[in-house]
Amino acid sequence: MVKDIYVNIDEKISSVKFFVDEEYCHLKIKSEEVCLNCERKPCLSFCPAGVYRLDSNGKILINYQACLECGSCRVGCPFNNILWDYPRGGFGLNYKFG
Ligand code: SF4
Ligand code: SF4
Repeated sequence: MVKDIYVNIDEKISSVKFFVDEEYCHLKIKSEEVCLNCERKPCLSFCPAGVYRLDSNGKILINYQACLECGSCRVGCPFNNILWDYPRGGFGLNYKFG
């Protein structure tokens, strides 16, 4: 029997437990002006958790509570315009393996 090697990403993400820090956002945009002039806005697509969204005024919104701490936004923003850090101690996510 061939083992199914494909993984359902949504299923995997739904098994992650989040300990949300309601008082501190560990992701920050350095300059909103840089974002307004960023034509392609790749952050809207490279984040696996859909953390970056666009509001009706073209401003980038950050839903940091859903961050999977993959670090992609450290290297994915072409203008190095995202300040990325880990959540504070005791917060963030807990992966379930197996
Ligand atoms: S990719 Fe970087 S500069 Fe462009 S919109 Fe996103 S955060 Fe802003
Ligand atoms: S670290 Fe990963 S999951 Fe978190 S905001 Fe950046 S790209 Fe998204």
